[in-house]
Amino acid sequence: MSIPILIVGAAGRMGSTVARLVGDAGDLRLAAVMDRPGVDLSRVGYDCLTGENIEELLPQCPKAVVVDFTSPEASLAVAGCAARHGNPMVIGTTGFSPEQRKRLEEYARVSPLFWSPNMSVGVNVLLKVLPELTRLLGDAYDIDIVELHHNRKKDAPSGTALRLAECVAEAKDWTLAETGCYHREGIIGERPKKEIGVQAVRGGDIVGVHTVYFMGPGERIELTHQAHSRENFAQGALRAARWMAGAKPGKLYAMHDVL
Ligand code: NAD
Repeated sequence: MSIPILIVGAAGRMGSTVARLVGDAGDLRLAAVMDRPGVDLSRVGYDCLTGENIEELLPQCPKAVVVDFTSPEASLAVAGCAARHGNPMVIGTTGFSPEQRKRLEEYARVSPLFWSPNMSVGVNVLLKVLPELTRLLGDAYDIDIVELHHNRKKDAPSGTALRLAECVAEAKDWTLAETGCYHREGIIGERPKKEIGVQAVRGGDIVGVHTVYFMGPGERIELTHQAHSRENFAQGALRAARWMAGAKPGKLYAMHDVL
């Protein structure tokens, strides 16, 4: 039996990639696609329900796993609806505020909910080894993160860069709220020891590059992840969707639960 998928943001860069991959997968099927009112969904071109209102669409897809790559406001509204109807949901959207993340956690107690700012296996393995590297290198190494993305990306720094920075902060027993530095300009003085720099570069059609720099006395380590295409993220979202089809509510799931 194939798993029905409802895609929100289906006309977007990520949503259309996910829709194409669902069409190619034998164990999944497109139940419905939706986007904002007035957005042309015909270029997605699949034979399924289409719509622009989740409240109308979701009751027609009772078992569907919702896959959403949109905006924080849109994803939250869809997550609220999915929680009321009990549909599992996979969110790839980035840029949630701390308050919005709390609301996602509340919805996750009611129905199965997954959120990951980066669905790639490589980034999630990097997140796994980063705490150990941070602890092994110790206080003599300054850590900064630089990310590069295409010129149409709306949020900065990227959700992945923030997750990497959080991961470093946790390994050091710091909080990112106290130690994150997102801007350096003018006579700023010496770099504080207790600081994690996070810088964003925007331009062209770069899918996504993240580098973590460990800068120590007389040497430097650079860990770089380069995404070559959006398919990598879309495949990760579908891997999460397959797993979420059988998941129970209780916690906000992340990629490490799935891997
Ligand atoms: P995009 O602008 O190409 O697509 C977003 C789509 O969402 C658009 O078609 C837009 O019309 C639609 N949308 C917006 N509001 C909506 C609403 N209220 N209802 C229905 N549809 C709505 O953007 P994108 O490059 O596809 O990225 C989308 C999000 O996914 C961003 O937050 C981005 O940072 C994130 N992203 C995450 C990953 C990951 O691995 N988690 C990878 C790439 C991008």
